[in-house]
Amino acid sequence: MSSSLPGLIDPFALASKGWHWQGSVPFARLPRLVAMIVNSEGAAKVELTFSQIGKVVAVTGRVEADLEVVCQRCLEPVRIEVRAVVNLGVVTSIAEGDMLPEPYEPLLLEEEKLRFSDIVEDELILAIPVVPRHAECERGGHTSRKIQTKAHSAPFAELAKLMLK
Ligand SMILES: [Zn+2]
Repeated sequence: MSSSLPGLIDPFALASKGWHWQGSVPFARLPRLVAMIVNSEGAAKVELTFSQIGKVVAVTGRVEADLEVVCQRCLEPVRIEVRAVVNLGVVTSIAEGDMLPEPYEPLLLEEEKLRFSDIVEDELILAIPVVPRHAECERGGHTSRKIQTKAHSAPFAELAKLMLK
């Protein structure tokens, strides 16, 4: 089995074969992800199986990566360990997606084929918090407190100056 990154794939055809892919996907191949991370060196570890499970054309497996994003408090990089379990059901309409049994999330196929790396990229992007932060972000806390103190003390400083005159 070749581990080079697949391009456009037909999930139905692959599922009928029980296709399995294992390998690493460099972040550099995922432009939407690169726009969201600080350090684009590195790669995601990916293991995906396409198979027919009951009535579901399923994409299952895992996507793992250590991502560096900007902490929204101190603006320093913060590391996020993504360990995503993938349970996707391939559908061709939103109505079909609504009928998917648990635990499958819909993977909407808009054309006949889809880009393999898009599946990986979507899983990684979904795993990034909307407002990423360090669990213990001391620096950010101090900065905002300082700004607050300054804002409060300014009117009193002005008053003191007036009284001295
Ligand atoms: Zn921080």
